[in-house]
Formats: sequence, structure tokens, C-alpha cells
Amino acid sequence: MIQYFPLNKITEKFQPQLKEKALEIIAKGFYLLGEETRLFEQEYAGYTGSRHCVACGNGYDALWLIIKAYKELGIFHEGDEIIVPANTFIASALAISNNGLKPRFADPDGNTSLLSLESIEKVFTPRCKAVMLVHLYGRNSYSSEIARFCQEHSLKIIEDNAQAHGCMYKEKRTGSLGDAAAHSFYPGKNLGALGDAGAVTTDDSILYETIATLHNYGSKEKYINGLTGINSRMDELQAALLRIKLPGLDADNSHRKEIAELYLKGIDNSHVTTQPTADPATNVYHIFPVFCQQREALQAHLATQGIQTLIHYPVPCHKQECYREFNGLEMPVAERLAAEELSLPCHPAMSLGDAEMVIEAINKFRP
Ligand SMILES: *Cc1c(COP(=O)(O)O)cnc(C)c1O
Repeated sequence: MIQYFPLNKITEKFQPQLKEKALEIIAKGFYLLGEETRLFEQEYAGYTGSRHCVACGNGYDALWLIIKAYKELGIFHEGDEIIVPANTFIASALAISNNGLKPRFADPDGNTSLLSLESIEKVFTPRCKAVMLVHLYGRNSYSSEIARFCQEHSLKIIEDNAQAHGCMYKEKRTGSLGDAAAHSFYPGKNLGALGDAGAVTTDDSILYETIATLHNYGSKEKYINGLTGINSRMDELQAALLRIKLPGLDADNSHRKEIAELYLKGIDNSHVTTQPTADPATNVYHIFPVFCQQREALQAHLATQGIQTLIHYPVPCHKQECYREFNGLEMPVAERLAAEELSLPCHPAMSLGDAEMVIEAINKFRP
């Protein structure tokens, strides 16, 4: 059996350290807004190459807090639009609409499944105040051309870096490229907590101060509330555990890359295509997608060979029931991806032999 993402096996190598740290925190009796969280913020800001980091409850909250902070600062207003790819996890869009702004869905580039300058220009209106770049599957979506367009039109760049911890663009890491970035440490991400956790990174000190206030009830001083904030704090236990795992992130990503390279070399079936990447060296392979017009048959075939796969994502945002007003939009690339994408197992606890078995099973597939 080759599992898609066996969390217990992936966490195993950290177990002695995690146990020791958990016991230490329990004994210390300080569970929120303490030393571990402060140190994680410092270390993660350092890792991404950002000036500031606010640790928060999850990746969705991180996105929501960025947009809410820009509203508090008078830069975004209710009814404004934010360009976001239609082929992303729903959290990206919900962070916009739950702030009273409008997601302006864009169809991604057909080759990369990422937003391109062209795909952004196509949906741009004067009501747009930002572009949300989603580094989907572990690949960078930022480019200097997109940045130039955003600067010309006074658009903020918000990075959704939930899937791309460690990914690079030139000499910089994703999460330090735009005006602000949201990170998720959901257990299934490349850097995963043992529960929910997230973070915002930014170089903007005023934005940072606002988010640091908003994530703790809008309060800088206990019981004195300057902003209508929320409770979205990373707890000390998660911060401590993430501090143990962070130094191993690059090695974990390299292992994912080794598996991905085997897949790219070995998969040879006219019914199955892989994803071209503009800059494969920087891909951190959060997801290894293949595309197949007979996706359900392929998934069933692999299941009979004991290989677990997932679909990211079966319904594009604009076709979701919660976004009825957008259901009429036509986004041919996003819709094709939703119909054809299948994610292969690709994780740090997987052996290269397992990858060879996956390749063999795919190459034997006949629809
Ligand atoms: C996982 C994910 C999120 C949300 O993160 P949570 O921590 O689960 O809230 C947002 N955007 C993308 C692209 C994701 O993959």
C-alpha cells in the first residue's frame, strides 16, 4: 500500500524531539503568545527572508488578516475586487469575500496552471486593488512582469504561499516577493504542524503592526481594543513543534524533488501528462499532479494497485455552490484542470522504490 500522505510516518523522524518539547511546554504552563511563538516568528521570517512574521491560527486566517489589515489602513474598501485564480483551494477566495470584497476570478495559463500577466490583464478592472498569487502545487507564480503591471495599477500583491514553503524565485523565497504573504502549516503542507497553524510574512512595518494587533482581538494592550480583530493565535505547542521541523524543510523538499524527477523521467503513457514548470529547480512539489481525460478510471486503476491518490481540486471556485453569482463564468483552463487533475503520492517518507511502483502502475494504465 502506498499511502498518499501518511502523517504518522512523515512525523516519525521528529518524534523524540517533539515528545521532549511537548513535555517541556506542558510543564512550563505557558501556552499562548510566549517565547516559542516569538522565536518561531523570528526564525520563519528569517527563513523566508521577510522582515516581519505574525504567527496565527491557520492559512485562511493569514489571508483574511492581510485583507482586513489593508481595510483598516484605508487601502482596501468593501466592494473592491481582488484578482484570484479560479483553480485554487477555496480559502483563497473566501478570505476575500468574507472581508466584503469581491473575488475577481481569473483563468490560469494553460501550460503552467498559474496566473500569468496575460490572465491578469484579461480580468483587470479599475475596481481591482490587489492580485492574489497562489503558488500552486509548490511552484512560484510571481514574475517581474506581473510585479510591474501591479505597480503601474497600484495593485497590492498578496501571495498565497500555503503550498510552496521553501520555493524560490531568483534569489528570494516565495513569501517575500509581494507586499504580504499567507502561509498555512496545515498538517498536509510541506511544513506541517500537528494541528492548525498559519503565518503572515511582510516587509511592511505598518501592515505588520496592524496584523499583529488584529490577530489578538485588535488589542495591543489587554482589554483595550483599537481594532475589531479576531482570535487567531498560533499556540506555543504548535510553534515549538514547527521550530523543530523547520530546519528539516529543505531536506524534505529535496526528497520530494527526487521522487518528482523519477516521475517526470519515468511516466510514459499517452493518456497521462505531467506538468511543465518554467523553473523546475525551484519547485517544492507540494503536489505532484498528472492530467488524464479518464481521471476516474486512472484513480481506480491505481487504487487496485494499492496506490492512494487525491484530486486537487474537483470543483473550481467559480463553480462552487457558495459562489452562485459566479457559476455562469467560463474558465476553460480551470475547468479542465478540475476534470483531469490527479495528485500522486510525493512526500518525504516515501521511498524511491515506491515511486518506481507508481510509475510502473501508471505506465500499465489502459482506459
Ligand atoms: C491549505 C491552503 C489554504 C488554507 O490553509 P488552512 O491552514 O487550511 O486554512 C489556503 N490556500 C491554499 C492554496 C491552500 O492550499
